[in-house]
Amino acid sequence: MRAIVFYQHGGPEVLQYREDIPVPQPGPGDVLIAVRFAALNRLDNFVRIGWRGLDLAFPHILGADCSGTIAGLGAGVTGWRIGQRVAANPTLWCGRCPQCLAGWHNRCDTFAILGEHVPGAYAEFVCIPARNLIAIPDGYPDDLAAAVPLVSVTAWHMLITAGRLRPGEAVLVVGAGGGVNTAALQIAKLAGATVGVVAANAEKAARARALGADWTVDRAAEPNWSKAVYAATGKRGVDVVVDNVGAATWGNSLRCLARGGRLLTVGGTSGYEAATPVNLLFGKHLSLIGSTMGTQADFEAVMAQVFAGKLKPVVDSVFPLAQYGDALARMLAGEAFGKILVQVA
Ligand code: ZN
Repeated sequence: MRAIVFYQHGGPEVLQYREDIPVPQPGPGDVLIAVRFAALNRLDNFVRIGWRGLDLAFPHILGADCSGTIAGLGAGVTGWRIGQRVAANPTLWCGRCPQCLAGWHNRCDTFAILGEHVPGAYAEFVCIPARNLIAIPDGYPDDLAAAVPLVSVTAWHMLITAGRLRPGEAVLVVGAGGGVNTAALQIAKLAGATVGVVAANAEKAARARALGADWTVDRAAEPNWSKAVYAATGKRGVDVVVDNVGAATWGNSLRCLARGGRLLTVGGTSGYEAATPVNLLFGKHLSLIGSTMGTQADFEAVMAQVFAGKLKPVVDSVFPLAQYGDALARMLAGEAFGKILVQVA
């Protein structure tokens, strides 16, 4: 089959487009998906570069998000049929450990992500556990269904399940264009919050307002943006900050919080080592809440809103599978607004 693969960790140059990769066989409980669209995530870049302890079977195939049709059923799979259009929660869990039994699939002892620890979706076919699937309703486009699973389940778990966001609260999203941030902005609005966005430039600020942001700060014009946030909130600050930038923004994010505020994070694209003024933490009764990915209940809840049209996937661009390298370059340049897709079939 056609696939984007790599045989060793390294820069983008280790990626190869090949047409001779064997089609995977679905194991018990798995389905074989004929992929139509797959979506890029920052995770792709981290996995390809690699880290100590990451032990992949090469060649490895990246790709956490996809839509497609069911092309094969593994032993014991019921309730699904060949040809059905599906998308999938990329969170992988064992189903047997104490965390899984309590419903915390994303805290599983053997937690994994599609395309991170197991072969992913930049290929004609991918195997996924049947329990991760969701049917795509008739009339809902395959490209939009592929664009959102990872970022939506991540943003939903972060804001709703872990962050316990309540109607009327004030939320600040740091960063405008990333997939988690465009999802978080819309989910926070849907939950009844008012939402401000700190954007890298005026154009991204305008796009965030078009997606529903109540107010925006252009960080190019206001480098000292925590003061602008205070001004925008009547000197109160916000109840929740979503910060997936990390080192570069952490201090400002903490200063934006009102008393009792929560800082939510699912990533740190600018670096993981960030200073936390402890006096701010206790003096303002702040909480730091981290999470990663989401449970199947989170996934089904957020995809119901997506399929109902209440959360709109934002697609930046679509590349053919063979041009994954160009798609990756666009993501790494930081110029995209929303998701970058590859079309497989
Ligand atoms: Zn488990």
